[in-house]
Amino acid sequence: MASLKLQILASLLLCFNGLSSASPVQADIDAIAAAAAAPVRADSAPSLKETKWNPPANLVQALNAVWANQMKKYSPRPDPLKFPNYGYKQVVANKGKINFCVRWDSKTTATPEIRATIDKVLKVQVKKWMDILVGFDGWPYTNVPVTVTGWAARSQNLLPGYNASEGFTFYNTKDRDGIPQCSEQCGRFFHQNGVYSQCPGGADKHYDMSLWLTDGMKGGAGGDWGQRIGSEMFLSQMKTTKDLHIFLHEMGHTFGLDDYYDWKPPGQTNFIMMAGSAMFITEFDAWMMRDWWRHLRPTMGM
Ligand SMILES: [Zn+2]
Repeated sequence: MASLKLQILASLLLCFNGLSSASPVQADIDAIAAAAAAPVRADSAPSLKETKWNPPANLVQALNAVWANQMKKYSPRPDPLKFPNYGYKQVVANKGKINFCVRWDSKTTATPEIRATIDKVLKVQVKKWMDILVGFDGWPYTNVPVTVTGWAARSQNLLPGYNASEGFTFYNTKDRDGIPQCSEQCGRFFHQNGVYSQCPGGADKHYDMSLWLTDGMKGGAGGDWGQRIGSEMFLSQMKTTKDLHIFLHEMGHTFGLDDYYDWKPPGQTNFIMMAGSAMFITEFDAWMMRDWWRHLRPTMGM
């Protein structure tokens, strides 16, 4: 029952991001909106130098609406802040680090070059979110190192040349649906008390999140368990694209941010959590994240 309860809680943070199936008409609408709004990139927004809650005046009304909506929608009620597995809580539990399992839900081969690129890309993309919190309202880390501690695949043959000196553990374990998944004994989702005593490689080799790459999947999904994305899309974008926007959107869910398929915060038309409307993390996304941290921090005794 405990695990069923976790699944239900986790499903609150699950979304399907159907970018690839958008109709041409929808794409036109998005293009027009983008031209009108010109969102500010988070990594060049002067307002993010603020170290306390002081968002730009033109974002305040929308941020208030977003927060009220999330608190109304999320569980557990009446206090969604008690959910134990927001990304912030995972990072703090792991002392300022994030460990990943790569779920290779693919029949293709992950060469050493592909493995190395995924490792590098994860570090770069995760940093885009984590940098938003640096120096803000007691966030205790200036850098959040990302380590891939495990890979799961149908066969080790799909990882040619693998050996343990690569720094991660190979797993051929599967979830209840038969999909490759690193050992549950090592997974934060399954051990939210942070005890990994049965993890074969020890607690240092546990994983907080999974990057789940699935052949043929359009769009993505995200939650406290990690991020799921089409493998073809991830692999094709990872070598050339500065902002892996679907991954970034799904990671936003891991950190509590919501979807905007059925309403728009007042005045906000382009931001990464409104799927398809921005290709990078915007200033507005960043202040939505900061809103989470400033509310969660006191509940975490920090
Ligand atoms: Zn979403």
